[in-house]
Amino acid sequence: MHEYRQIFETINLGLVILDRNLKVTGWNRWMELHSGISAADVIGCQVCETFPDLSRSSFLRIVKGVLAFGNYASYSQKLHKFLFPMKNPHGSHSQLAQMQQNCTVGPLRNEQREIIGVYITVQDVTDFVLYEEKLATMAKTDGLTGIYNRRYLDQRLQEELDRSRRYNNPVSILLLDIDHFKNVNDTYGHLCGDYALRGIAAELRRNLRNIDILGRYGGEEFCCILPETPLDQAYNLAERCRAQIAATPLGCIDHQLSVTASIGVAEQLPDETTDSLIKRADDALYQAKHQGRNRVVCSLTHATPLEVADA
Ligand code: GH3
Ligand code: MG
Ligand code: MG
Repeated sequence: MHEYRQIFETINLGLVILDRNLKVTGWNRWMELHSGISAADVIGCQVCETFPDLSRSSFLRIVKGVLAFGNYASYSQKLHKFLFPMKNPHGSHSQLAQMQQNCTVGPLRNEQREIIGVYITVQDVTDFVLYEEKLATMAKTDGLTGIYNRRYLDQRLQEELDRSRRYNNPVSILLLDIDHFKNVNDTYGHLCGDYALRGIAAELRRNLRNIDILGRYGGEEFCCILPETPLDQAYNLAERCRAQIAATPLGCIDHQLSVTASIGVAEQLPDETTDSLIKRADDALYQAKHQGRNRVVCSLTHATPLEVADA
């Protein structure tokens, strides 16, 4: 028993023991350290009185089930975030104020195999949660500009087209390509080109609405999905972005350089696929380049992209 006691007190896991009346009969050192509540203060107390939030969660249902049926239950971080409120022990810089926990609840039996209480293990999974969030963000972000990447844009475009069909709302897209960008690299160097790409991403973000989904579609191409936006409004937005990019010098190391961009705009037609919509925006962009660059061209039908504005 003495050996088990050593394990109980030194294991890197919270261990709590409750009797059938949900009074605390065991509270290990880990629980003391992280909760700031000593075993002496909590032993003998009703666990729900010490932690009132427990009675509002599914905790009571789970514990009563274990007491009645002797099953093992888990209490996952994904569903409940945490069971016992404790400060995040990984530093105040973290965006999570509370320690995130995975908990298990199991039956405790006496020598006659009668269930006399439950034990609860509390595992700190805050680090995993933060890594998971970081990975999820990285998987959809373009490393250079910080806006969305192509993979995320493709996924969101499909979702937005499905949604617009379901609710009968318009959705439009912009495809933007920087003009003569090769010259920027050739004249000022690749590093400067990278600065310019970041500057343009920031400029676009400033001109778009929060609901618009902006991403880097390829090297020096950007795509913007505009939910609930018909073609004429999409055109106005594109024109504003084009004018703003042309008028705003980009600070780049020790140069100030000016670039322009050409933009193709398309609104989803009934039952149109993502590929077809992108293709029409791309054709309109091609027309904008062909007609002299630094301009916006809208695609009106499958067949004929129409120029609606000269720069
Ligand atoms: P156009 O007006 O016809 O679009 O001419 P362009 O020079 O922009 O087009 P082109 O496709 O010939 O060149 C695109 C250039 O963009 C070439 C490539 O080196 C550059 N580029 C693509 N990705 C990056 C990047 O991540 N960083 C930098 N600095 N340059 C990039
Ligand atoms: Mg280009
Ligand atoms: Mg290009």
